[in-house]
Amino acid sequence: MSLAEQLTRQNIKGLVPYASARRSMSGGRIWLNANESPFANDYQLDSSVLNRYPDFQPPELIKSYAQFAGVQTNQVIASRGADEAIELLIRTFCENDESIMICPPTYGMYAISAETSNINTKKVPLNADFSLNLDAMAQQKSGVKVVFICTPNNPTGSVISHEQIKAVLDMFEGQAIVAIDEAYIEFSPENSVASWVSQYPNLAVMRTLSKAFALAGIRCGFTLANQHIIEAMSKVIPPYPISWPVAQIACQALSADGIARMQSQLGCINEQKARIAQALTELPYIYEVLPSASNFIMFRTEHKKALFDTLIEQGILIRDYSSQVMLDNSLRISVGNKEETDALLSVMKAFNA
Ligand code: PMP
Repeated sequence: MSLAEQLTRQNIKGLVPYASARRSMSGGRIWLNANESPFANDYQLDSSVLNRYPDFQPPELIKSYAQFAGVQTNQVIASRGADEAIELLIRTFCENDESIMICPPTYGMYAISAETSNINTKKVPLNADFSLNLDAMAQQKSGVKVVFICTPNNPTGSVISHEQIKAVLDMFEGQAIVAIDEAYIEFSPENSVASWVSQYPNLAVMRTLSKAFALAGIRCGFTLANQHIIEAMSKVIPPYPISWPVAQIACQALSADGIARMQSQLGCINEQKARIAQALTELPYIYEVLPSASNFIMFRTEHKKALFDTLIEQGILIRDYSSQVMLDNSLRISVGNKEETDALLSVMKAFNA
């Protein structure tokens, strides 16, 4: 056993790291496996500031995002992607013998972040229709300090109703932070609960520039919450979380022009999404296509392995979720641009199950 192995914390020894798309698969020419945007936009960079540390929370960035999200500036904290926000929430609010609660199938990083901090994860599976099982959540609520709910949910694309989110906020009032992960909310803005942050002292909403804003490469996310939650999180975040280039690019993306461009790109993505959904519904080897409020589509086929491999042979990467709870035979496709959709559908239509 190496010295490093001997010294590694017990819970890290057995940890299976998150299999991100870029870590678990390489190659391919069409990447439809990480829910990224297919659009690459141009940005200006001013390098004259790079000898200086950046602002702890760049004021223009915070102001722009607060305005975009319809909250006050003291209700926002920026982090290295929403992934860092997940970790910050756990490290800020959970003691060692306490737990987070998640509702699988859902985004994998909540449980992994908890594990790396030695925090338990209580899993309360969604109902068959992907709504929350409120009774089961109430039964298991003891010791829970942060509840993670993803809406629209990755990987299913389903949405949790406002009524259910209110019920969870009430259920955990005075006990736990309810963290609503809105990484995909720009694709169905009517589902957002960001405007509730002044009203609920236990609500935190996570956002990102990685999806609709087409900036997965800069690693910039936000948490929206009442100012006391933001102040607590800002004690835990490292000293300079947002580099100058990130701040500069993010501010351009959040300008009026940047937001208008994002919205027009949303239109293109929605068009391709409708095309993919329609085409999948017509393919005889697919027996279910899940409705999606996001920029990806999940579907079920008895032939998932053969299809997945055929797509890889053609350089097209999608994501296999079939080993997860409630997701047997399920594959997920991120929506790309028109040319990528053409290539995807031509392989899928030619596929002989
Ligand atoms: N939440 C969900 C639901 C996600 O799908 C992702 C990205 N895969 C994240 C958070 C993390 O986003 P970011 O790139 O901002 O770290």
